[in-house]
Amino acid sequence: MLKICKKCDIIKLDKKQNWGRSRKGSLDLKIAVILLSVLSVLFLGALIFAVYKILALRKRVRIKRDEMTGLLNRRSFMHEGRLVLDKYRERSEGEIALVVFDVDKLRLINTLYGTDEGDKVVCAFAKAIRSAAGKGDIIGRVDTDDFALLTKLHGKTVEERIEKFAAALPDFISNISIREQVNYYAGVCVFDGQDDIYTLFNKANLCLLTHGDGQRISTFTSDMEQRMVENEIMRTEMLDALKNGQFELFYQPKVSFKTGKMTGVEALIRWHHPTKGFIPPCDFIPLAEQFGIITKIDEWGLLTACRQGKHWLDIGLPPIKISVNMSQAQFVRTDVYATVVRVLEETGFDPQYLEIEVTETMAMTDVEHTVGVLNKIHALGVSISMDDLGTGYSSLASLKTIPFDVLKIDRSLVCDVNENDTSRRITSAIVAMGKALKMIVLAEGVETGEQSKLLTDLGCDMAQGYYYSKPCPANEIETMLIIPINPNVKT
Ligand code: C2E
Ligand code: CA
Ligand code: CA
Repeated sequence: MLKICKKCDIIKLDKKQNWGRSRKGSLDLKIAVILLSVLSVLFLGALIFAVYKILALRKRVRIKRDEMTGLLNRRSFMHEGRLVLDKYRERSEGEIALVVFDVDKLRLINTLYGTDEGDKVVCAFAKAIRSAAGKGDIIGRVDTDDFALLTKLHGKTVEERIEKFAAALPDFISNISIREQVNYYAGVCVFDGQDDIYTLFNKANLCLLTHGDGQRISTFTSDMEQRMVENEIMRTEMLDALKNGQFELFYQPKVSFKTGKMTGVEALIRWHHPTKGFIPPCDFIPLAEQFGIITKIDEWGLLTACRQGKHWLDIGLPPIKISVNMSQAQFVRTDVYATVVRVLEETGFDPQYLEIEVTETMAMTDVEHTVGVLNKIHALGVSISMDDLGTGYSSLASLKTIPFDVLKIDRSLVCDVNENDTSRRITSAIVAMGKALKMIVLAEGVETGEQSKLLTDLGCDMAQGYYYSKPCPANEIETMLIIPINPNVKT
């Protein structure tokens, strides 16, 4: 029994021992399971965190770069640029400059040839700037058509950097069909050790607005800022002038050599400024062009001239042609054809009495587009004249493709036509060309009887100039239409 019991005990004991052992075993297992779970959770957490971090980093990298060119975007450029300037301020070693490159007429390229071509141009610019940049330079695409380069000059001039870019550009655009139309402007500001990155950028950008005609590189000078303030005032004043009726059209007679009669007038804008008095067009038209206000001014001019012409016809005055000056911006930025159609409809003016004056330089820029628009306007019955002939690079091809009715010989040729043999020969050649192409040839800026006589002898058809009349208000033209001009009585 005892034995049994012992056995039992033993058995019991064994059982107990086994039980104790198996309890310990399951405890170990439980701990192991718990540990494993904790580890798995930790591992999973770490994994999720790592994935999140990678995604966040990738997103940050994506935000930093312009997708098309791979260059820094504007924000990142400013950020990186600030760091570079800070470092430079501490060590003040060497020179550093910021260049803003502007892709000339990118919007027009996109409109005329499609965004694929425009994108190719943008990428070509990016590559050319990259190839011109030095070690450690920062490049960004800071706007659709603007790039910025923050460059350490290392004894070189900033012009050298830009020249390197300009020299590289043709290689990168060799696969673009419109390569001859691709051009650039560069605004430069050399770091003075004081400016922050935003000021430096704004100053370089300002140069893009103030570059002269045909000038590709413009460098910041302190008087630019002053000019910029003045220009801004002028811009606001011009917009006010349009609203408050401070502009007026004067009209200058165009006279037929054959009959001596006024057969047309040119509408010329005048600004009666409330405090500055009379401001001549040469002082505000170029600025209006720069600010993009010219399109508004020209539309106002077209509407006012057509209203005036309709009024003269309505009151029974002899019909004359009215010519209106059109700026290049009008062709590039607006739908001139639609504007002309709208104004003719609105005023009821007969298109046969309207003439549009465009300069030969304009006719040569964006030829295809301009030719198309001018042909459409011409088909309405409106005449087209080539203004200032002899001042730009004459394009005989444009005479073939643009439906010019009138060639206006520039004043610079007319003013010394009696004294200068070359002026006379050129005038004579223009007359011969005009005749061959069945166009009317008009001499501008005729001031003397001698000029008038010689131009008649050379075969000019018409004249315009102070000899006949200065530009004058509409009511004086009415008088002249009733009592014809006597050239000997100068106004
Ligand atoms: P433009 O189209 O060549 O106009 C002829 C300019 O020569 C006018 O100057 C006129 O007053 C001046 N002129 C005419 N005959 C003589 C002369 O015998 N001797 C001299 N010395 N000058 C003469 P204005 O009115 O000052 O206009 C200057 C320029 O401003 C114009 O040159 C034209 O390019 C622009 N302009 C004038 N009005 C408008 C306008 O409404 N829209 C646009 N886009 N431009 C305009
Ligand atoms: Ca003109
Ligand atoms: Ca002219």
